[in-house]
Amino acid sequence: MMDTKEARKLYLASGNAGKLKEFQVLGETCGKNWQLELLPDYAKFRGFEESAPTFAENAAGKALYYSRQSDGIVFADDSGLVVPALGGAPGVFSARYAGPEASNEQKIAKLLFEMKGLEGADRSAHFVCVIAAVRGGRAAAVVSEKVDGEILEAPRGSDGFGYDPVFFFPPSRKTFAELRAEEKSQHSHRGKAFRRLLEVLE
Ligand code: IMP
Repeated sequence: MMDTKEARKLYLASGNAGKLKEFQVLGETCGKNWQLELLPDYAKFRGFEESAPTFAENAAGKALYYSRQSDGIVFADDSGLVVPALGGAPGVFSARYAGPEASNEQKIAKLLFEMKGLEGADRSAHFVCVIAAVRGGRAAAVVSEKVDGEILEAPRGSDGFGYDPVFFFPPSRKTFAELRAEEKSQHSHRGKAFRRLLEVLE
């Protein structure tokens, strides 16, 4: 069990304050006392290229890369949507499936186009999230979680981001874009992975 004040700080390897906020909310709702901050030196690094074929390699590579000048625990995530009937696409290319500058609407449009004619079990999909934490140049934890769902033929709901409006979550009978943020984080790949990370680090 870690008990020093410094050890309970976690640095997110990202410059994205929105992502930090999402992880902070996840941390607060699971009642664990970790303080989350953006890695102070993040902007000084040249961007890490997420070009590996797996979420795990990208997450671990990113955490190792950005932790080089830090004494604390640095964590990074990689996530995406996997559609087995499309051979695993968009997978690690989820963010740039319709090009590097494409909007969420364009990514969804491409996904629905590629899935035209697919029915039943062929519309199964899952979101995956891998989070890696590194301390002192060594991996402290690598956790992976997923959530199963189905891809609808048209978007529904206005909350969330990315592929949420077409990701139907059967237990709630709603898309991720129709769920309240707390409900999504309870079931989502990212929520489950982050809670597991905190358990492992404890
Ligand atoms: P990254 O993990 O920041 O590289 O983002 C991966 C991409 O996967 C995002 O840009 C989204 O398009 C997609 N994605 C990951 N998680 C979610 C989610 O919870 N909802 C919707 N889309 C997601």
